[in-house]
Order: sequence, then C-alpha cells, then structure tokens
Amino acid sequence: MVKKMSEYRADFPILNQQVNDEPLVYLDNAATAQKPKAVVEALEHYYYHDNANVHRGVHTLAERATEQFEAVRGKVARFINAPSSQEIVYTKGTTEALNWVAASYGATNVKAGDEIVISYMEHHSNLVPWQQLAQKVGAVLKYIDITAEGELDLASAQQQITDKTAIVALTQASNVLGVINPIEKVAALAHQHGAVMVVDGAQSTPHIKVDVQQIGADFYAFSGHKLMAPTGIGVLWGKSELLAEMPPLEFGGEMIDWVQLQKTTFKAAPWKFEGGTQNIAGVIGLGAAIDYLSAIGMEKIAAHEQQLVKYLLPALLEIPGVTVYGPHDPAKHTGVISFNLDKLHPHDVATALDMEGVAVRAGHHCAQPLMERLNVAATARASLYLYNNLEDAQRLVTSLKATKEFFNHGTV
Ligand code: PMP
Repeated sequence: MVKKMSEYRADFPILNQQVNDEPLVYLDNAATAQKPKAVVEALEHYYYHDNANVHRGVHTLAERATEQFEAVRGKVARFINAPSSQEIVYTKGTTEALNWVAASYGATNVKAGDEIVISYMEHHSNLVPWQQLAQKVGAVLKYIDITAEGELDLASAQQQITDKTAIVALTQASNVLGVINPIEKVAALAHQHGAVMVVDGAQSTPHIKVDVQQIGADFYAFSGHKLMAPTGIGVLWGKSELLAEMPPLEFGGEMIDWVQLQKTTFKAAPWKFEGGTQNIAGVIGLGAAIDYLSAIGMEKIAAHEQQLVKYLLPALLEIPGVTVYGPHDPAKHTGVISFNLDKLHPHDVATALDMEGVAVRAGHHCAQPLMERLNVAATARASLYLYNNLEDAQRLVTSLKATKEFFNHGTV
C-alpha cells in the first residue's frame, strides 16, 4: 500500500500539541527538522540493547554497536550516491565538515595568491572557514554575485572563477533565498580551471535527491538534524584520493594505526579523521532517518513541498506590504521562504506569529553578507518539510494577515 503524504504526519508526536492555545504549525524546518518515531525508537533500542563503544571491544555488544555504526556509512553513501562507504566521514555537522575541508585540505593545498571563490548567499559556516584560511595563507576570497531575482549569477561565476582559483565552495540550496544552485555548471567551471568543488548540502540533502557524482562535487557536507536525525551528527563526503592526502585534524584514540614514543602513524580515511569516541547513537539515528526518508522517496518529498510552495508563495505575495526575497516563481523555489512585512521588524512578526501557534524564524539566518547585499537587517523565514500540509500554509497566511491588521491598528 502506497501511503499518502498526509499519513506521515502521525509519525511526529511533537506536532500534536497546542502552542499559545493554538495547534502548533512548525515552519522552522530549515533550522532543524522534527524527528519521526522511527528515529527516536532506533535511539531507544540502541541504548536499551546495544550500547557499547565501537571498534575497541571483542565482546558481543561492542561488535553489535560497531556493526551498526559502520553499516550507516553504506546507507549514507547510497543516499548521496557516493562511490564508496569509505569516503563517508562522520562529523558533528555541516559546520565541522566544512571547517575540516578548509583546515586540512585547504591549509595544505591553497597557497599565497591563490583564489577561493564562494557566493554572496553562503551560510557563515561556508564563509568564515574560507575567510580564515585566506587570511592564514594569504589567499584571496572572492564572491559570486546573485541576480536581481535572487538566484546565483552564472555570468558572475564565470568572471570570478579563473586559473588562480584553488577552491570553489557553494551551497546547493540557499537557507534564505530558497533557490537550488546549478552546482553541475559551477563544478564544471571549477574543474576547467583546476579548482576543487566543495558543496554545502545542509539545505538540499533533506529535501531533494542528491547525487554527489552527477553534480561534480569533490567534497560534500551535510547535517543529520535537518533531515530528521539527532543533533550532533553530520557527514563529510570527499573523493577518496582527496581524503587520502588530507592530514587528520584531531589526534588521540581510535584514529591511530601505531603510536611510538616519538612518532605515530594514522589509520586510513575515514577513520583517521574520527578521533576519540564518536557520536555512536547519533550515527544510528542518522541511519534510521535515512531509512525513513528513503522509504518515502526523496522525489515524492520534493514534489509535496513544491505543491505547498505553489500555494504559499503567491498567497504571501498577495498580502500588501509583504516582500519576498528570492525568486517569485514557485517552480524556482524550495520550501524556504524569506520575507518581511511592511516596516515591521521580523522579530516582531515572528513573535506575533508564535502567539498564533505558528513557528517561523527571524534574524540574519547566519548570512550577514547576504543580508547586506539584499539591503535588509533581517528577514522572517518560513520553511517546510514533508509533514507540513496545506492547512499549515493557510495558517501562516491568515496569521500574517492578522499580524498586519494588529500592527496597523496598534501603536506601531
Ligand atoms: N549551511 C547552510 C546552508 C545551513 O542552512 C546551515 C544550518 N543553518 C549550515 C550550513 C550549518 O549547519 P550546522 O549548524 O548543522 O552545522
């Protein structure tokens, strides 16, 4: 029996509650996603039956924990179509994964005078590590611009990426503008000039089918918590030849091959990067989340979100005084919609919406250079996931209209 999208909502008990005397509408999925019972139960099962430290023991529990911990690498590899499970490095999240690429691959390969190219729409975690690297080695940090509509400007990419470019780092989906970037085209440009292509998959992996080979990535990072896994677990995928040449960054237990008084040899990738006791439960939760999403199908999830955007985006644009940042064509838009209402501060808008039980985020969304480029201090942001439905989208629209009324007739 093929399940309808509406049937999955029951897998998320957290959604079944009142907030400020109204049924909760959770529209802050770009910040973190809610967890289905299957993920929470996988954690419970692990802690009740299998908890042990991995790799180190020969006893049954240690073997069981190790087997599950290592099996998830294969699940992740299939989920993003990586050629090998040994290219899957566990990290705390996207931030750590991107920092590692900059501090390990970057610090050993980028020289003074080289260029690192990113875009105006990067999250700080795909910006600050490159800025730090550039400052450290004397490289130049350059930015691909966005178009007036809020999409990546490919003409600007062509100008910015040159023979001096060592690294191009780009987000696959913007956490503010709600666009999917043409990574394939930018990666082709990067490779033409001999640069390495780093992709931030934090906002895309939870919502669309990812194929790291097809898009031409060399490194790819994502966070578990945005795709229904626990917090504190994420992934760095890298091509095996690149991971092989990268020095580890954290030294200690687990990542070593042989330690002598004056020298140490390290394990191969991915284990050389995973120093100390890992987030084993997090990995098991990540495996359960990938199973959950895969059983539904990423194409089906993307199509459902697109259906909601087709209603929500025009409905928001119809409200006088609403400004939407990013494309106004629903076909070009993901389930992330950033907006402002009249001259109201987005924090006031988000607080008013919360009074109606509607959870959205307000602020700079860890993208201050983008806010500056858009000429705003902050925005409100609604972001959808597979459990949201048309009613949720309608509740946002009616609550926003009520907010507008309230402030228009109040003292502001
Ligand atoms: N990149 C993008 C595009 C994001 O939206 C986020 C999370 N907001 C991150 C990176 C960082 O992810 P994390 O905080 O899970 O490391």
